Amino acid sequence: MKDTYRHQGMRKKLAEIVEQKGVSDKRVLNAIKKIPRHLFMDSSFEEHAYQDKAFPIGASQTISQPFTVAFQSELLEVKKGSKILEIGTGSGYQTAVLLELGAQVYTIERQKELFKKTNLFLPKLGYKPKQMIFGDGYKGLVSQAPFDGIIVTAGAPFVPKPLMAQLKVGGRLVIPVGDDVQVMTLYTRKSPKEFEKFEYGEFRFVPMLEDKN
Ligand code: SAH
Repeated sequence: MKDTYRHQGMRKKLAEIVEQKGVSDKRVLNAIKKIPRHLFMDSSFEEHAYQDKAFPIGASQTISQPFTVAFQSELLEVKKGSKILEIGTGSGYQTAVLLELGAQVYTIERQKELFKKTNLFLPKLGYKPKQMIFGDGYKGLVSQAPFDGIIVTAGAPFVPKPLMAQLKVGGRLVIPVGDDVQVMTLYTRKSPKEFEKFEYGEFRFVPMLEDKN
C-alpha cells in the first residue's frame, strides 16, 4: 500500500475534525496529519482509515478512534525526550503519535499475533520505540521505571497499582477506567505519596485483560 496526496488530504480533514472536537495541541494535530493511518489497517478497509472511528485490527482488538488517541496524547503532555510507557500497542498507531511527539516509547502488548505484526511493521515506517514488549501491562515495566508518562489504551476495570508506582514525581498517568464504559482519568504524581485525579468524560475501549499466570 502507498501513501498518496489523496490520503494526505483525507488526513488533513481528519485533523480538522479532531480539532473541532476539542483537541488544541498543534503538535498532536500535526502528528495526525502526518501519520498514514491507512497503513495501520488491513488494505481492504482503506476507505475507513480517515474517518474518526475505531476499527477492527484482528484478534478481537481495535485501532482506537483518532479523536481518542489525540485526546489521550494531549492529556499526557509529552515533551521531547519524555520517557513514556504505553499499555496496549495494538496496531501501533498511538505509538507512532507518541514517537512523533518526540517521546522515548516503551510499549507492551499481551496479544502475541498483534505484538509480532506491529513489532515488524512499525520500524518499516521508520517508527522505532525504545522497546516493544510482549507481556502483561498490569505489571508495568519495572526494569525501565520511573516514567514521565504512562498511557493505557485499553479499558481498565481498576487502576493497577504498579502503574502508579512507576510514575515519576511530576509524571502523568492517562487511563480509561471502567467496565462497559470508561471514564478517561488523569493522575498526576505530586509527591511520592500524593496523586491528584482529574476526570474527562466517557469513552469506550476494548477491555484491559489480566493474564492469569
Ligand atoms: N493503542 C492501540 C489500541 C489497541 S486496543 C492502537 O492505537 O491501535 C487495546 C490493546 O490493548 C489491544 O491490542 C489489547 O490486546 C491490548 N491489551 C489488553 N490488555 C492488555 C494488557 N493487560 N497488557 C498489554 N496489552 C493489553
